[in-house]
Formats: sequence, structure tokens, C-alpha cells
Amino acid sequence: MADVLIVGGGIIGLLVAKELLEQGAKVTLLEQGQPGQEASWAGGGIVSPLYPWTYSEPVTALASWAQAAYPQLVAELNAATGLDPELNLCGLLMLEPPNQAEMEAWARARGKNLGLWAPEQIQQREPDLATTFSGGVWWPHIGNVRNPRLLQSLLLHLQRQPEFELHCQEQVEEFTAQPSGAVSVLTLSGNRFSAAQVAVCAGAWAGRLLQPLAASIQVQPVRGQMLVYAPRRKLLNSIVLHNGRYLIPRLDGRIVAGSTLEHTEFHKSSTREARQELVAMATGLVPALAKEAVEAQWAGLRPGSPHGIPFIGRVPGWDNLFVNAGHYRNGLVLAPASARLMRDLLLGQEPIVDPVPYDPLTPRPSADMF
Ligand SMILES: Cc1cc2nc3c(=O)[nH]c(=O)nc-3n(C[C@H](O)[C@H](O)[C@H](O)COP(=O)(O)OP(=O)(O)OC[C@H]3O[C@@H](n4cnc5c(N)ncnc54)[C@H](O)[C@@H]3O)c2cc1C
Repeated sequence: MADVLIVGGGIIGLLVAKELLEQGAKVTLLEQGQPGQEASWAGGGIVSPLYPWTYSEPVTALASWAQAAYPQLVAELNAATGLDPELNLCGLLMLEPPNQAEMEAWARARGKNLGLWAPEQIQQREPDLATTFSGGVWWPHIGNVRNPRLLQSLLLHLQRQPEFELHCQEQVEEFTAQPSGAVSVLTLSGNRFSAAQVAVCAGAWAGRLLQPLAASIQVQPVRGQMLVYAPRRKLLNSIVLHNGRYLIPRLDGRIVAGSTLEHTEFHKSSTREARQELVAMATGLVPALAKEAVEAQWAGLRPGSPHGIPFIGRVPGWDNLFVNAGHYRNGLVLAPASARLMRDLLLGQEPIVDPVPYDPLTPRPSADMF
């Protein structure tokens, strides 16, 4: 029997597995499809919340810890597997941001040096950007990771660990507390797995799976659509953010454009409307993209939660059933910290941050979904 059984193989489940294996635990992971193919694959990989000062302290605390941990995580995976997750510390240029005074106060309080740029400075950094912007704010410390590669590298690393077991096409449906304290799960295919502890890292599906057990775990899917261009020459140096939409430069010159926010339940298809909207945004920011073909379009389901604060902790009423889900728009940036906190809670170690704000029993600031 495994020490810990993880439900869901996105960035959260995979990193929780890594953390536990490093502590000597025996880990089994159940995935309803193939690992690393859902939101964690679909995301943009920006290693920061989009407008960081608009988030609550619990999100900022995890983001800060994780941002500091990212370079080492990526270097470690690259060294172990030869598959580079391509962390690109390219900086982020925020064009005409809202609430600039609030932003500056937030950055000052956290010792972050921002550049308040005039149009000429923007043009110098990004010569292919449209010249219509009155100014921008330069966030030099923000980068992006090529998330599909991060997942591949992480999975390869895990599969080489003798105490790791992966079962694909196993959709968990039911949980049972055993008299011994262990938890067993039943999957759609009729298989039963047991472990001393179970951690549900099921992303957008976590609410559907856990709400019958604990009404407070409110996680709902929020669809996001994206495009990618593979321009014939390099057109962008930094992440560019304007009116909530962004362009992300990959190290090979590709540009990812995102994203939509849609409440469409579990429908994950891409739409023509979103494509038109994203093309208009991308070519509005970088006019030369109008001469480039869209290489691909896709959609993913974000695990939406009130205020984007993930649920990390014990499922109410259960001793050995835990949850780590609801990272909404920030699961890639928050993942290293969320996974470490989950490890701390499962193994009874000193937590890296105060765990109370993430506990499923702690009321969120309001029920608003971001
Ligand atoms: C378009 C878009 C852009 C984004 N951009 C960014 C960004 O730039 N930066 C950032 O930090 N975040 C971003 N995000 C958010 C981020 O991708 C998510 O918050 C994060 O990937 C969530 O990770 P997860 O592991 O919880 O979920 P997922 O990656 O969805 O993984 C959950 C896994 O659980 C499995 N599962 C579900 N139910 C069951 C079950 N019953 N049994 C077994 N397995 C199950 C699923 O199949 C899936 O593989 C973006 C998301 C989208 C969609």
C-alpha cells in the first residue's frame, strides 16, 4: 500500500508527488486521462499573477515563495532529465496598468523595483510593438516557463523514481475511510486503491469530486483559450500585458497569446470568436503578427475558486483525505509553494507559510470568483 495516493496528474499533483518522494514516501498517482494534459499544459506559464497587487495576501505569499524556488526547480529537472523547461526571465511590460498608485505602493512595500517607462523606452525594448501606448511599467523580475516542457520533464523524473507508481485512465469516483484510518478510492473502471493518506489534486474537477463531501470546497471550471504564433523572425523580447490580455515570448521565438475567461462548465472546445478576439489583440499589440499564421489554438479549464485562493488542507470531516486545488489563474506560478505546503501538512512538518488561509474551513474574503 502507498503512503500517499494522489488524485490528478497536473502540475499540482506531480509536484506534490516529487515533494513526497524526496521525503522517502511511497507515492501512487491516479490520473483520469494522461498526466500533464489539462490546465497545466494549456496555461501560459507566466511565473507571476497578472496584476500582482490586486491579489490577496494568501496568493501573494505562495507566489513569492514559488518565484524564488522556480530557477532551482527548473535547473534540477533539466539536470536530471536533459529536458529543459525553458524558464525565460524576460521581464514583463505592463502597458497602461490600472490603479498605478496602488501598484507602486504594493511594489515599494515588497522591495520590487519597477520601471515607469515613457513610450521611447518601450520602443527601445520592444521595437515591434505598436506605438500607440502612452506609457508602461517594467517588471524586470517576472518571467515565463514553457509549461508543457516543465510537465514532461517532471513526469520523466518521477517515472525514474522506484517508489513512484502511476496509473492512467483511472477516474476516481468515491472515497471510503477504512477502520484503520487509511482511505480507499474507487475508480470508474471498478478498481480500488488504498493509502494511508489521499491528496486530491484534481484541478477544475476537484469541486465536482469533493463538494458532496465538503460544501466549502468551491472549485469550478473557467475556460481559457490561447493561440500560438511561430514568427519568421523574433518579434518580442518581454511578456506584454494590456487590458488583461498578454503576449508571451518563448525562448525559440514563438509567441503565445492569451487568454479568454469563460464560464462554460466542462466544455473545453476552442471557438472561432475567441480566435478572432485573440488575433485582434495580438496584431493590435504587435502589428507584424498580422503577416504570420496562427500555428495552433487550444483551450483549458482553470480551477476557479473564490478570490483565486487555493484550497490546501484536510477535507472537513476526514482525517486522512486532503485537497490541493483551486489555483485558478495562477496554478503554474503557485505550484512549487502549494506542493511544499501540502507536503508539510501531510507529513506534519513545519509549514512554509501560515496554512490557515488555504484551509477548506476558512471562509474566503468573499464568494466572488475572479
Ligand atoms: C488559458 C490558460 C492560461 C493560464 N495561464 C497561466 C499562467 O500564465 N500562469 C499560471 O500560473 N497559471 C496559468 N493558468 C492556470 C494554471 O494553468 C492552473 O491553475 C493550473 O494548471 C492548475 O493545475 P492543476 O494541477 O490543479 O490542474 P490540471 O492541470 O487541470 O490537473 C488536474 C488533473 O487532475 C485530473 N483529474 C481530475 N479529476 C480526476 C479524477 N476524478 N480522477 C483522476 N484524475 C482526475 C485531470 O485529468 C488533470 O490531469 C492558465 C490556465 C489556462 C487555462
